[in-house]
Order: sequence, then structure tokens, then C-alpha cells
Amino acid sequence: MNNMNKRETQLILNELGIIPNKRLGQNFLFDNNIVKKIILESQISEDEVILEIGPGLGILTKELLAFSKKVYAYEIDFKLFQYLKKKISQTANIEIYNEDILKAKIPPQIDVIVSNIPYSITGPIFEKVFYNEKPPRGVLVIENSIAERIFIQNKYKTFSRITVSFNAFMIPVKKYNISRFKFFPAPRIDLSLIIVKPRKDINPFLLSDINRSFFLRFVAGIMPYKNKNIVNAISLFLKNENVINIPKPKILQYLKNKNLNNEKVTKFKVDELVKISELIFNLMNETLSI
Ligand code: SAH
Repeated sequence: MNNMNKRETQLILNELGIIPNKRLGQNFLFDNNIVKKIILESQISEDEVILEIGPGLGILTKELLAFSKKVYAYEIDFKLFQYLKKKISQTANIEIYNEDILKAKIPPQIDVIVSNIPYSITGPIFEKVFYNEKPPRGVLVIENSIAERIFIQNKYKTFSRITVSFNAFMIPVKKYNISRFKFFPAPRIDLSLIIVKPRKDINPFLLSDINRSFFLRFVAGIMPYKNKNIVNAISLFLKNENVINIPKPKILQYLKNKNLNNEKVTKFKVDELVKISELIFNLMNETLSI
């Protein structure tokens, strides 16, 4: 275990001339008990390939290397990238890239993502790494408020865009709260360690790029109206998409044919919303081709 503490973390950052950047979500973990917990929970086996997003000073990276076959790490900050390159032995099974994870072409054979991610881009990271045909497992430190939205389903307050998108592809398994004071600088809100795994039964509609991006746009488009009935929410979504030739009665009829009632958006299960997105996708295409 590389024994870092808060003072040492501050010292290294000083030496590197790094002032933690909020926009890059730079909050460095310095508590080794949490590192141990992350490694324990990730249940990595020696033949597995790991992705780390934003390794920072490498507090997790070294441990990940010790337990896995290979680590791919993406660090956007050039100074941190250089520091890591120097610190980690060149013979180790690691590829470190000085790249934006959101623009990177990630190797396809990743088994697990283990990271204390940049919190500023949690949604886009999820979309990139998990909202896919064959997502990997995940062991991630994220903001607690987002973790709650992922874990608690069909409760009005926390039922949100990320609840639906995430649960369409992934199964949230475990969640532990972590105090924000285990990070330097301390972020504004508390964090959670989440353990998530891919669903084996991702709806076939979501397996093509076009459908998947429609689904994500549909969810983003109806969720601002989550306190309305589904037909109204869909109608508002269509209006915002500049689709004007699908009247409400038609949407209602379509849902009825599939035994779906016109209830509040938050009353629907994630899988029902996937089904509804498919219905609306088909309805829009039919209407287009008339
Ligand atoms: N994992 C480290 C650092 C967490 S801070 C730790 O636990 O201590 C978040 C890290 O993500 C920083 O190192 C930051 O530079 C990096 N980062 C921020 N945006 C990124 C992006 N788009 N792509 C790759 N790395 C990014």
C-alpha cells in the first residue's frame, strides 16, 4: 500500500505546481482504508482488464496493477500524466494516456472500471462507458446525490433521467457512503462508493446506436415533465423535437394497445419507459414515412 495522507498529497501537488481544478473535478482521495475497501469490493481477478478514469496521483492505480492483468488509465491533466508515467514502472502492465476520457477510443475488452471519477462529468462518463451493448462492471466513487438517484427507483424525488438511463443498462448492487473529508480538496457534498454490474437482459431495442441515442434523448426529454401524465410528457417532448403531427389521442391509443395506462411518468418502471421509447420511436418513423 502506498501510504499517502492529506499532508503528503498537498505536498506532491505543490511540488508539481498543481492547483486543484474544479472544472476537472480534481478531488484527490488520500485515505488508504477507502483504497482497501475499493479494491476489496472490486473483486478483480488476475486475468481481468481494468479501466481507470482520472488516476490523478495514482493512489488507486498501483493497487489495481497489483491485482489485475492490465490497466488502461486516462488522465487529462498533463502534469499528472507525466508524474504517473515517472512513478509507475514502465514494465508494469499499464497503458497511461494523456487524453480526455470522453473523446478517447476505449479498448473493447475492459472487464471492470475502477475509479474515483471527475464528478463534474459523471453523466457523460456513464453514457460513454455504461450505456452500451456490453457494458463492463463498475466500482466507482461518485457524488452521493447521484448514487441515490441510481439506487432508489420509482420514488418521486429521486426518480430522474439518470435513474432511468442507468437502470436500463446496469444493475446497482451496493452503495457505501464516504465522507467528503477523505479527499483533498474536500468537495462540497458527500460521496458514495457504488458497485454496479451490467444487466444480462438489456432490451434489444437498446442494442443499436440510433435507437440508444433516441432512448437517451427521449428520457432526457420527458423527465422535465415527470409530474405530468405520460401522454402529456410525450406530447411536450415531441413538440420540442418539432414533431407536430402526432396528436395526444393517437399517443394514448398507441399506449392503450400495449396495455399501458396514462399515468404519471414517475409511476412507470424503467423497463416500461424503454418500451414506451420504442413505441414512440416507431410512431415517429411511421408518421414520417406517410
Ligand atoms: N482518482 C484520483 C483523482 C481523482 S480527481 C484519486 O482518487 O485521487 C479526478 C481526476 O480526473 C483528476 O486527476 C483529473 O485531472 C482527471 N480528469 C478530469 N477530467 C478528465 C477527463 N475528461 N478525462 C480524463 N481524466 C480527467
